Amino acid sequence: MRIIFCALLLSAFSSVQSSAAPQVITDIAPVHGLVSRVMTGVGSPSLIVPPGVSAHYFSLSPSKTKTLSQANVVFWVGSSLTPWLQKPIENIARNAESVALLPLSGELLLPVQTTHSHGHSHQHFDSHKQFDPHAWLDPEIASRWLNTIAETLATLDPQNASGYRVNAKAGQAEIERTFAVLSDKLSTIKTKPFAAYHDAYQYLERRFELKFIGSLKDSDAAPLSARRLAELRETLSEYPEVCVLTEPQYPPKLVEVLSNKGNVRLGIIDPLGSNIPNGPNFYTQLLDEIGRNLISCF
Ligand SMILES: [Zn+2]
Repeated sequence: MRIIFCALLLSAFSSVQSSAAPQVITDIAPVHGLVSRVMTGVGSPSLIVPPGVSAHYFSLSPSKTKTLSQANVVFWVGSSLTPWLQKPIENIARNAESVALLPLSGELLLPVQTTHSHGHSHQHFDSHKQFDPHAWLDPEIASRWLNTIAETLATLDPQNASGYRVNAKAGQAEIERTFAVLSDKLSTIKTKPFAAYHDAYQYLERRFELKFIGSLKDSDAAPLSARRLAELRETLSEYPEVCVLTEPQYPPKLVEVLSNKGNVRLGIIDPLGSNIPNGPNFYTQLLDEIGRNLISCF
């Protein structure tokens, strides 16, 4: 029985190896990691936004433009994260299927938060219904994306369909295990207040029941403002101990302006995992790293 099973596995694996993989492009490293997991044993995707760069501001190099022109499929979060990628996908990746993952996250999506001049922040659905694009920070959403990625690739490349689906299932089990371990660890800092450079962590906050109390910038496009800084200082001063997180993609302004307060501890959060090697294990390593950094701040 076992021998037959092994033989079946082997033949499945060799058929996976033998056919040409589709040309797959991804926007940011976390999406690249999820697609790599699904494509394990078949091929590997290309990445547009290199490590250490903000996904919100970027321009395509000639070599990336060429890669894009040869794509069969582009997996990206969507135009609210990378508005600069919309036109190149339409104009350069003309023959590729474009899969924006954010709108496919269903009821798990959260609207963009806004802070008004009177200081409090709340969620709103306004006429243009913007959703917070930082959705990969919710492991449950990432897990859904694995399905979407596998089904898209299965349709595009039917020969490897079962391989993609098996990989997606395995990736989901890995995310679930990592999530269980991490939520257990993070339960020790549930009541501790965090602030960050830009408002990108409501998915993380919801899934791990954390307490984010503010950011220096509302949205990624918002300019730094003196009033916002004063408001954040005021908020921070309400807590005996608070952790302020800087992000490697942005200038360490927060450190300079807030570190002179006795109750402020400084930490780091990197939602794009710039130091993590790209590949199929990227996403679970990203969760691990974020968890470790949050805990070590306190
Ligand atoms: Zn962001």
